[in-house]
Amino acid sequence: MTTRSPARPVLFVGSRDDTHVSELARRVEQEGAEALMVDTLTFPQETRLSLTEGLDGITLEGRRLERPGAIYLRSYHAHPLTFGVDAQEAMDDDWRTTLVAFREKTTLLRGLVGRWEAMGVPLYNPLTSDWRTPKPVQLALLADAGLPVPETLWTNDPEAVRRFAAGRRVAYKPVEGGAATLELGPEDLTDARLEALEAAPVTFQELMPGEDVRVYVLDGEIIASLRIISRALDFRQNEERIESFELPPEVARQCLRATEVVGLRWTGMDLKRDARGTLRFLELNASPMFLGFDARAGTDLLGHLARALVRAART
Ligand code: ADP
Ligand code: MG
Ligand code: MG
Repeated sequence: MTTRSPARPVLFVGSRDDTHVSELARRVEQEGAEALMVDTLTFPQETRLSLTEGLDGITLEGRRLERPGAIYLRSYHAHPLTFGVDAQEAMDDDWRTTLVAFREKTTLLRGLVGRWEAMGVPLYNPLTSDWRTPKPVQLALLADAGLPVPETLWTNDPEAVRRFAAGRRVAYKPVEGGAATLELGPEDLTDARLEALEAAPVTFQELMPGEDVRVYVLDGEIIASLRIISRALDFRQNEERIESFELPPEVARQCLRATEVVGLRWTGMDLKRDARGTLRFLELNASPMFLGFDARAGTDLLGHLARALVRAART
């Protein structure tokens, strides 16, 4: 038996109804730390939270919080569009008041998590990575660090799209992500179709026909590298098989460097092979899902992450 320093509580910022939160909290308790929840989905209807002007003046459910040992930051549920939020009725009834309420709640929650960052509590992920995670800056930072990214154009300018698409295959997808990636066709280059860019800018990217790769990095180490064997352009609706595979050392180094550039302690990143076989970074996710990969590929990302949180909470 080794003696270990006791772990401080691990704090979860997200929803109890999110299996990534509930499973991880359960596993953290098995690993010997208390799991505390700031349920950002039910707050402020439920969860009593008070902050005073002192940095550590934080009371959760009537309990004055000591300095937490580590934070798992999943979601603030900041917006009616956030996954898991159902604000349809409230929005139909009074959208303005509903949006104000979301903004008020989220400002408080960001302030809360900001205090923990200021106190030096390890956050998975740090708030200092926030401004680097939107893809239009993230991919530029990766490119600037000499890492392979696809040729990309984010724009609302029809002429820029036509120039970008000339003589090659192009994929297009939302700037934020979360919806299907499609191949750009000749019918997409008409004036009428490109007028849609007046409603929202879009991402255009060199189309990469090769395999999809997902790499997880935790505390500066690669804990899983998987490839997704699929015939569809966007693997998410069409997974066929997921298997572990060993990254070439050069790619492994690039993945660790990319994680450092974006400033993440924990990430699941997407890479894809271009027509010449080079793996290029599509994105680093700051709060990646992992249970589906554990189930399909036989990895233990859940265990890795739980142990990392408890380790951080002991030191
Ligand atoms: P999201 O944030 O929505 O996950 P991604 O950039 O990871 O956005 O794209 C989702 C998926 O769409 C990728 O994993 C890949 O399968 C496919 N995809 C994205 N960009 C391209 C591209 N340039 N060429 C081919 N397929 C792509
Ligand atoms: Mg992705
Ligand atoms: Mg994403």
